[in-house]
Amino acid sequence: YLRSQITLPSHPRSLSEMPIADAIATQLRETFTCGSTRSYEWRMSQLEQILKLTDENQTQITEALHQDMGKPVFESFISEISLTKSSCKVAIKELKSWMTPQKVSTTITVFPSSAEIVPEPLGAVLIISAWNYPFLLSMDPVIGAIAAGNVVVLKPSEVAPATSSLLARLIPRYLDNSAVRVVEGSVVETTSLLEQKWDKIFYTGSGKIGRIVMAAAAKHLTPVTLELGGKCPVIVDPTVDLEVTARRIIAGKWGSNNGQACISPDYVITLESFAPKLIDALKVTLEKFFGKDPFQSADLSRIVNFSHFARLTRLLDDPKVSDKVIYGGQRDEKRLIIAPTLLLDAPMDSLIMTEEIFGPLLPIITVQKMEEALEVVSSLPKPLAAYLFTKNKMFERQVVASISAGGMVVNDTALHLVNHHLPFGGVGESGMGAYHGKFSFENFSHRKAVLYRGFMGDLMARYPPYTRRKQKI
Ligand code: NAD
Repeated sequence: YLRSQITLPSHPRSLSEMPIADAIATQLRETFTCGSTRSYEWRMSQLEQILKLTDENQTQITEALHQDMGKPVFESFISEISLTKSSCKVAIKELKSWMTPQKVSTTITVFPSSAEIVPEPLGAVLIISAWNYPFLLSMDPVIGAIAAGNVVVLKPSEVAPATSSLLARLIPRYLDNSAVRVVEGSVVETTSLLEQKWDKIFYTGSGKIGRIVMAAAAKHLTPVTLELGGKCPVIVDPTVDLEVTARRIIAGKWGSNNGQACISPDYVITLESFAPKLIDALKVTLEKFFGKDPFQSADLSRIVNFSHFARLTRLLDDPKVSDKVIYGGQRDEKRLIIAPTLLLDAPMDSLIMTEEIFGPLLPIITVQKMEEALEVVSSLPKPLAAYLFTKNKMFERQVVASISAGGMVVNDTALHLVNHHLPFGGVGESGMGAYHGKFSFENFSHRKAVLYRGFMGDLMARYPPYTRRKQKI
């Protein structure tokens, strides 16, 4: 089934006569063509409504997130609600300047002239979002698409059904139904949406489905942004402040949806001689944060569903890591929980070191020299984020210059995400395109090059016939 939660405006062809994805795309395109979404006033009113939606429904949002993955209320507030609100506030504050054409220099060859870059909306955009931050990852791109003056279809993830259904109820109540639609569903519904012609597809999820999205987009030459994942390394050298490092690794791993986050630390690399100290600090801090029995902690999300629980269990049950678990490892299939788990020196060809973990398991890989850490990271596909803990400035410069990643944080984890002055996106297998702050506006805009000329100063040499005299010039 495919449900659009919108009252559809009147349309020359009845909806029953055409597939619903087609109907929605057609109707949205009509709205775009009539031009209403281009005005500053429309964009601003919709952004203000998103802020209102988020403000007025905080309890329902946190309840839905709790239902979907047991997300702690405070975590939902800081990582979904407040980030959505601040993204919206930035767009409201900056919209006028983002929309203003940018004057640029001109050149002697086109003298006299003036030039500017005019941002224009792309048209009808499809946003397909993931389950792990189902509110933020849905609303944040919608904010960018609306700020840029587009019409939008949002397809939330069916893996977070409570949040998907809440979005489908709330968005029509707050936003312009002729321009913003929510379509719920899974593979069949997404496939029929992907068959439509869009002016942009913004996809968040795995690389496997990212490839399907990109292939569908190629049929219509539709540009895509792919917000994917990967194995995010944490390089720790022995110069660090141990307690702070342990706290920040844990916050980025178990404090962020229990490791089910695209920018979660996936594995740690450190010196063999330093590993015991780091492991001790991690164990002590884990107990401080989540207690001796983490199954009783209210501050850890559960695993989202059985299929992800089974996937993580498969990583742990790989015979190649049977003797590598040094902390945690307990699981409760009925409650879909897995304790924070540390593994030491899992082989590089084990499942846990070849697949993105996306859960509460953290392998620690040891090396003899810190330079080897860079070799390990570079031998794997480019990650969405790379983290480095060090006080050694030379090493810091070396890592920043040599490791390719979507983003990087030195001496912390995940925080680059909350700085809207930084683009957020992947590189290589972790994705393409970026958003947040002005980068969201640009993601959903075309930068139109406009050159202005008058009727004076016409250089006749450019026109045929190209006489010998002209060719001498
Ligand atoms: P998911 O299962 O929610 O899938 C993502 C979207 O793809 C959903 O809307 C789903 O309906 C759709 N989909 C699934 N199968 C499809 C198919 N065959 N055809 C068309 N659409 C289909 O999410 P996921 O893929 O499990 O998400 C986890 C991945 O997403 C991880 O790799 C993670 O790192 C990545 N991720 C990236 C970001 C980011 O911002 N870069 C954020 C969150 C998650």
